[in-house]
Amino acid sequence: MRIAILGLEHETNTFLPGRTTYEDFVAPGGWPPLSRGEAVLPALEGSGVATAGAVAAARTHGGVELVPILWTIALPGATVAEEAFARLMDDAIAGLKAAHAEAPLDGVFAEMHGAMVSEAHDHAEAHLAGAIRAALGPDVPLAVALDLHGNISDKLVDAATLLEAYRTYPHVDMKETGARAMRRLIAFLADGAAPQKAVARPPFQIALTWQCTLFGPGKAVVDEAEAMMAADPDLAVATFFGFPLADIPGAGPAIVTQHPDAATARSAARRLGALWDRLEPQFDGPLPDAPAAIAEAMQCAMEPGRGPVVIADTQDNPGGGGPGDTTGMLAALLAADAPALLVHIADADACAAAHAAGLGATIDVALGGRALPQTGAPIAGPWIVAALGDGRFVGEGPMYGGNHIALGPVACLTRGNVRVIVAPKRMQASEPALPKHLGQDPFEAQILVVKSSVHFRGAYQDRARRVIVARAPGPVTADLADLPARRQTKRAAGRASQTITTS
Ligand SMILES: [Zn+2]
Repeated sequence: MRIAILGLEHETNTFLPGRTTYEDFVAPGGWPPLSRGEAVLPALEGSGVATAGAVAAARTHGGVELVPILWTIALPGATVAEEAFARLMDDAIAGLKAAHAEAPLDGVFAEMHGAMVSEAHDHAEAHLAGAIRAALGPDVPLAVALDLHGNISDKLVDAATLLEAYRTYPHVDMKETGARAMRRLIAFLADGAAPQKAVARPPFQIALTWQCTLFGPGKAVVDEAEAMMAADPDLAVATFFGFPLADIPGAGPAIVTQHPDAATARSAARRLGALWDRLEPQFDGPLPDAPAAIAEAMQCAMEPGRGPVVIADTQDNPGGGGPGDTTGMLAALLAADAPALLVHIADADACAAAHAAGLGATIDVALGGRALPQTGAPIAGPWIVAALGDGRFVGEGPMYGGNHIALGPVACLTRGNVRVIVAPKRMQASEPALPKHLGQDPFEAQILVVKSSVHFRGAYQDRARRVIVARAPGPVTADLADLPARRQTKRAAGRASQTITTS
C-alpha cells in the first residue's frame, strides 16, 4: 500500500486583529517546524502529533510505503493570510500529484485541525480536502485526523472517506487519533467497505473553558460515544466541540458518526445530538475576575493541603489565539504580592534585556501588554533577573512530551513574592519543563498561574490543591455572551440538534 502523509492545520480566532502569515507556519512555538518531503518523518520523530501516530501505526502494520508530502502547523491566531494558505495548499497538492504520477497512491492520510479560516475560505481545510479529492479523483481514499476543536463543514465530511478526532481536551490522545485514522484507512484498503456518515449539529456554541472532557458534560458526551463504539465495533464517532472564536457559518459542535450501515450511522448521530441538547445548560461555570481569583487562591494556599492552587488566565490562552502577553493577571498578582509563579509572558524585548543585564541584575523594562493594548498596559519595572535559560528543552507534559522545544532565550523575573517566566514566543501553558528549565518547579509553587483554558489540566490538575478559572482582560472570550459574533449559530431556546446524512 502506497499512502501519502500530509499535515496542514491552524485554529483561527477571527476576532483577533492582524493576520497569520507564512512565517508563523515555519517555526511555531512548541510544535515541529514546517517540513517537506523526506524531511517530514525526521521532523516529527519523537513528537506526539497525530501524524507521528499514523506513521507508527503504518510501520506496526507493515507492507505500507509512506510518501511524506508536507507537514506544518501555526499557533492559534488571527485569520490566515490567503497567500500563506494558498502557498501551503498548492505545495501539498503539487506534492500529491507528483507522488501519484510517480506511482499511483492507494490512499492519503491528512492531519488537519478543522478550524482554519483563511481570508478567502471560512472552512479552509474543507477547501484543502476538496482540492485533494479533485487532484486524485474519487477512488483514492482520504483519511483525516482532526482536532476536537474543528468547525466541521459538510464539505469536509463529504470529501473525506473517514474522519477521526481527538477524544480528549486537554489533548492527550493526538498520536492515538492519528493511529486510529491510519488503521481504519489500511482496513478500508484491505476490504473496501466505505463508512456511511451522518452529522448531528447541536445549535449552540460552548466556551473553550467548559469543553474539558475530564469532568461534567464534556466527559459525559465523550463517554457516551465511547460506550456506543464499544457496543458496536463497526461504529466510529468523531466528536467535535467546535471553536467558538470563529465568526463563520458552521462554527460549533458537530458529531460525525460513521458506520457501514447508513441508518445505523444516522440513529447514532440522532442519539448523540439529543444528549448534547439535554446537557447544553451544564456547559457553564464560575468566572471570577483576577483580584477575586487571587484572593480565593491566597486563602486556599494557607489551608492544609498539598500542591499548588492553579489559576487559569483563560482569556489569554495561546491555544485560543491569546497573545500570551496580557497583563491583567500580573497586575493583580503584584497588587496582592501573591506568592505566585506565572507561566508565562511572551515578551522578546524583556528576555533580551534580562540576558544583557545578567543573573541577579535589576532591570527596568516594561513587561507584556503590547499585542492588544486595550486589554491592559505593559507593567513597568524594576524586575530582578532570578534565572536565565537558552529556551531549549524537551517537553515532558502530556501534550508536548518528547517534542524538542526551542523558544529562544528565556528568563525568570521577580518582584516581591511574584515570579514571572518570560519567553520570546508564546506557547500553551501545559508544559512543566519550561519553568523547570529555569529552576522553578511549578508543583512547588503556592499559587501557579497559567495562561491556558484547559490544556494546563493535563499537566497540573491531578497535583493541584484547587483549580480556579479566572477572567482577566483578554481575547479568548470565556463568556460567549461577550462575543460580538454575527455569522455563527447562536444559542436559541427550543431548537434541537439537526442530523443530516452525507455520502
Ligand atoms: Zn484543540
